[in-house]
Parts: sequence; structure tokens; C-alpha cells
Amino acid sequence: MTECFCGCGREVGFRWRPVNTRGRQIQETVAEVRAAPGGGRRPPDREYIQEANRACARLAASIHEQGPADKQLEAETRELLRAHKRRFGKPLLGRWGISRR
Ligand SMILES: [Zn+2]
Repeated sequence: MTECFCGCGREVGFRWRPVNTRGRQIQETVAEVRAAPGGGRRPPDREYIQEANRACARLAASIHEQGPADKQLEAETRELLRAHKRRFGKPLLGRWGISRR
């Protein structure tokens, strides 16, 4: 059983698991940025954290509502992860790519 990444305890249906995985990955990037020197206080880091938190809220909402896949949101969240990877240059916990549908 997979639980929603937002911590609400809801069970995530099979179809939304990739969305859930992406949400968790984004949360991990935020934790990583906060743990980096400067603690995420530099403007580009703060911006990233804000954007990532907004994206996570939307991903969680789409899991809660079990609505149709939001292609725009998917593209945005994939790009967020790519942007983070470009800046930090290494895979997060070796778990990139498991969110493929
Ligand atoms: Zn949730």
C-alpha cells in the first residue's frame, strides 16, 4: 500500500502512484536544498522552494481529487526536478526515473 506523499494518510490508487512519487521526489529536493550550505536562504533557493511547495500542493490535490491527469502540471513538475538535478548535479538517492508511467 502506498500512502499519499503529503502525509494525509490517504491510500494512493495505482494510477496516481507516479504522481505521488514525483511529489515525494520534489519534497526530497526541498529537503536537500534546505540542508545545503546557506539552508536555502539564497534567492534562487527560496524561489525554488516556493515553487516546489506550490507544485507539491497541486500534486497532492490531484491525488486527493483523483481527477484526470494534468499534463501541464506533469510537465511543470518534471521540469522542476530537472532544474534541481542540473543545479545539484547528482541523482537524489538513486531514485530518478522510477516515476515513469
Ligand atoms: Zn495527501
